[in-house]
Amino acid sequence: MADLQTDVRYIKGIGEQRAKALGKLHIATLRDLISYFPRSYEDRRERKAIRELQEGESACVEAMVAAPPTHSRVRKGLELVKLRAVDNTGTLDITFFNQIYRKDSLRAGETYTFYGKVEGTARRRQMVNPLVEREGQRALTGRIVPIYPLTAGVTQTLLIKAIQQGLEACREQLEDPLPEEIRQAHRLCHISYAYDQIHFPASDEALSIARRRLVFEELFLLAIGLKTLRSQRTEVAVPPCTGTDMEAFYGKLSFSLTGAQRRAIGEISADMASGHPMNRLVQGDVGSGKTMVAAAAIYLAARNGLQAALMAPTEILAEQHYRSLSPLFEELGIRCALLTGSLAAKTRRSILTQLSAGEIQLAIGTHALISDDVAYANLGLVVTDEQHRFGVNQRSALSAKGENPHLLVMSATPIPRTLSLMIYGDLDVSIIDELPPGRQRVDTFAVTSDYRQRIYAFLDKHMEAGRQVYMICPLVEENDAFPDDRKAVTAYAKHLQEEVFPQRRIAFVHGKMKPKEKEAVMASFAAGETNLLVSTTVVEVGVDVPNAAVIVVENAERFGLSQLHQLRGRVGRGPHKSYCILISDNRSEETRKRLRVMTKTNDGFRIAEEDLRLRGPGDFFGQRQHGLPALKIADLSCDIALLKEAQEAAEALLREDPELTRHPLTARRIAELFALHRNTLN
Ligand code: ADP
Ligand code: MG
Repeated sequence: MADLQTDVRYIKGIGEQRAKALGKLHIATLRDLISYFPRSYEDRRERKAIRELQEGESACVEAMVAAPPTHSRVRKGLELVKLRAVDNTGTLDITFFNQIYRKDSLRAGETYTFYGKVEGTARRRQMVNPLVEREGQRALTGRIVPIYPLTAGVTQTLLIKAIQQGLEACREQLEDPLPEEIRQAHRLCHISYAYDQIHFPASDEALSIARRRLVFEELFLLAIGLKTLRSQRTEVAVPPCTGTDMEAFYGKLSFSLTGAQRRAIGEISADMASGHPMNRLVQGDVGSGKTMVAAAAIYLAARNGLQAALMAPTEILAEQHYRSLSPLFEELGIRCALLTGSLAAKTRRSILTQLSAGEIQLAIGTHALISDDVAYANLGLVVTDEQHRFGVNQRSALSAKGENPHLLVMSATPIPRTLSLMIYGDLDVSIIDELPPGRQRVDTFAVTSDYRQRIYAFLDKHMEAGRQVYMICPLVEENDAFPDDRKAVTAYAKHLQEEVFPQRRIAFVHGKMKPKEKEAVMASFAAGETNLLVSTTVVEVGVDVPNAAVIVVENAERFGLSQLHQLRGRVGRGPHKSYCILISDNRSEETRKRLRVMTKTNDGFRIAEEDLRLRGPGDFFGQRQHGLPALKIADLSCDIALLKEAQEAAEALLREDPELTRHPLTARRIAELFALHRNTLN
């Protein structure tokens, strides 16, 4: 007898080769198979008479093969089978390409259901390569049909048939990870009904009942898993950081902190005084002053005799932090060092010695901070300034150099509150939702390329006045004239240099350059040696060039709003009035709405909410770095209400049974889901 752990080769028609192809979809067992949910559905319930068929629509017809199909070979590799099908309203010409077996499998005088796209004219209707089913069969036609994501060697038909068999074999063995009382309280259907209907829905209602249950289950298990991770974490004990007079630190700053910065520092101090390791994410818009919040944490650690490490994704950013923080800390008697890949061997050795002797209290650097030969005397605080660049692995590699150090993650990607729990998993979150006073609004315009000449004149005026300009080049898509972004960027830069701004210094940077080259170009731009930088989105990652006052984004419709907002954050960082110009010739309603949002607000959180509403959460998850189980069915752009409901149910269950001892099935399912996450964390 088959059970959920049985290998997929158990299914009729699946041998070595197909099992291997299914493996690419992470389907190995019958459980994987029946948990492979459809991406969408096609309603093929309605059957049409041939005369009713409209050109361009996809439709089902039931028709009789009028005469034996004919076969012809057009050339090597192109075989045609043609036939004419009839019902009592008309005739339909059907052509199959390279499906020679159709010649014998379709018999004259027999009736079949054909499903396909209607082509041709009203007088001569055609279908090419339609799906075919024998009269009375109901797997591919005559019903709501699931559409699965595919891979090479796996067809819809194969999956449909395999999943049908899989469900037959083990539908009764599905154990429900949702506790019965929760299932009832939230009016959710039985697990076997849900699995049946999610694949082969009997009606629209049945599908939504099934889907609601599966989404709830997924979010509920995720919520419990995350909460359990969080509570496990607090079991480790570390000496509390207390008794520090922060005023000495505040007194050295040339400005007073914003309310939001103070609040975040308060949350950090409470974490570090708690006797358990901190695990906190500080989320704040570009320019909101996250660095000073991190500096406060570093000060607190240093005064408690702990070393701190601050890791940035690039050398430029590390140097930027070093330049702004080391004078401040040296004045407070805290010694800093910069540790990057490009240090001379001798300097590097000396820094490593001082670090391992505890003579340096703060190491600022890149990945170089986690090299094997770097040892710390007493690493108690790890800060990553990630601008969504580091993965859980790198963070934990740095953490592993200390003994349960406090962890502070800084991110400049505003994420809607509802999502941050999902995306940042087991981190506590502080939000800096206030900019330092006196910050200028970056004026933003959305225009079509008709304005190009005026834009160039505008840019030239600013360069003449000594300002610098970013030009974000069209992102490259497959069908573009330029096949890769290197060509797009270099060609565009060349054009600007030779034909538009011959008297300006223009540089370019793109993703395929070596990191060293890239950093050299950025450094020279930062030093004011070039007037205009043509770039793909690499500048998105936190470079601070206060003299840059204009950013132009070509093909703005190809970017997510949050990404545009990040790009815009590259300007308006100094005393100069700054501008962001979004060029797009796309006239779709959605694009215009999205770009209008950019012109109306500078608030990253509002933009993130809009982005979520207009485009769904894909963009946020694209930047994820948590190693959490992927969502298979929930869609956080429309399932937010269910997310809240599931989170509340999860909290209630954990209050009543924190160890899940009375809910072993739930516990087991969560352990399976989170197995991967644990591995990467430890
Ligand atoms: P981000 O959050 O993007 O990392 P930074 O920490 O780099 O922002 O801060 C941006 C700029 O604002 C820096 O030059 C910093 O010195 C300045 N700054 C930070 N906090 C304040 C404040 N409370 N008042 C005025 N300026 C501030
Ligand atoms: Mg920063």
